[in-house]
Amino acid sequence: MSFRNFKMVSYVVFGRGSFNQLDEILTPHRKGDAPMVFLVDHYFEGKPLLNRIPLRGKDKVVLANVTYEPKTSQVDELARSLKEEFGTISGVIGIGGGSTMDLAKAVSLMMTNPGSSADYQGWDLVQEAGVYKVGIPTLSGTGAEVSRTTVLTGPTRKLGMNSDFTPFDQIVLDPELTKDAPANQRFYTGMDCYIHCIESLEGTYLNEFSKSYGEKALQLCQKVFVEKNHWDNESDDQLMMASYAGGMSIAYSQVGVAHAVSYGLSYLLGTKHGIGNCIVMNHLEEYYPAGVKEFKLMVEKNQIEIPQGICKGLTDEQFETMMNVSLGMKPLWENALGKDWESIMTREKLRALYDRL
Ligand code: NAD
Ligand code: ZN
Repeated sequence: MSFRNFKMVSYVVFGRGSFNQLDEILTPHRKGDAPMVFLVDHYFEGKPLLNRIPLRGKDKVVLANVTYEPKTSQVDELARSLKEEFGTISGVIGIGGGSTMDLAKAVSLMMTNPGSSADYQGWDLVQEAGVYKVGIPTLSGTGAEVSRTTVLTGPTRKLGMNSDFTPFDQIVLDPELTKDAPANQRFYTGMDCYIHCIESLEGTYLNEFSKSYGEKALQLCQKVFVEKNHWDNESDDQLMMASYAGGMSIAYSQVGVAHAVSYGLSYLLGTKHGIGNCIVMNHLEEYYPAGVKEFKLMVEKNQIEIPQGICKGLTDEQFETMMNVSLGMKPLWENALGKDWESIMTREKLRALYDRL
């Protein structure tokens, strides 16, 4: 038996207003006049946050278009244009939701690794450390701030660049940055965390490490989405720590059925991660009875609409594509259903599940 020896984020700062410390944090990592590049979620265009970015010398702000989830072509183009403009850069700072953070991680890696980011979709294919990278979440839930992956849609698949070089060198957890997120978006991304917890805690890969973080993250999600009747600063603090702990939980276990099925939706229909997971979770009573019951309670309590009928009218061929993508996520299924998962989740059964979505 071989135990996972995993690389974690090197430095973490937490606290309301900790974003103001960014200049001080970056200074020791500046290499001569090579700039820092701030990749900022396009939501912040024209917002006050842009004026708080500690620009020096040739530093540059690049707005990240996250209308769609990150693509390998988008990463390659960003890295190419930065190399063309600057040759080398001191670092990249991703400020935004999971999409922007993933883009920042991938661009950092593609500043030093040859070829296309599509060449590195998989496990431990990245050969060189990227440039210094910092993650600053403005939405809480994905756990992208702590994970060793960056999820990219490539020419042939949707798969992360999973490697020991992928985690951020530094993260800045400032819950103030999440306060203006719309309730729906906050819910969908927050549910990504809730679902990470359920899938981790109900999975066969569970161990005390994952359980410790998973239980804490679950408790924080429950405080925010079940127990409280209003959203306040404390909720932002709690959900940010839930995301962190949920990410740490799956780092040593794995996600499960909701993610495996949701990946198929995302590949074929472009359904976004958070909402896709919610669409699937809504129909998983058989696999996670208690979690789904509580999920439905949270949906109702927070007055969120979960889309229904998104697979209506798809062709058999399209269903096949989704099923192939989904069944390709072997570790997720094994975690969820055990070593015999293939005899449990047959193609017929999965098709019937997609039909219900
Ligand atoms: P997102 O980053 O896709 O952003 C969703 C929307 O919210 C965007 O329109 C964005 O502009 C907007 N937004 C961001 N911050 C905001 C704020 N403070 N106020 C208002 N609007 C804001 O959403 P997400 O759910 O955080 O991330 C999903 C992405 O993360 C997917 O691409 C998914 O593949 C990825 N992901 C990665 C990992 C990982 O471990 N690397 C894990 C889970 C998900
Ligand atoms: Zn997720």
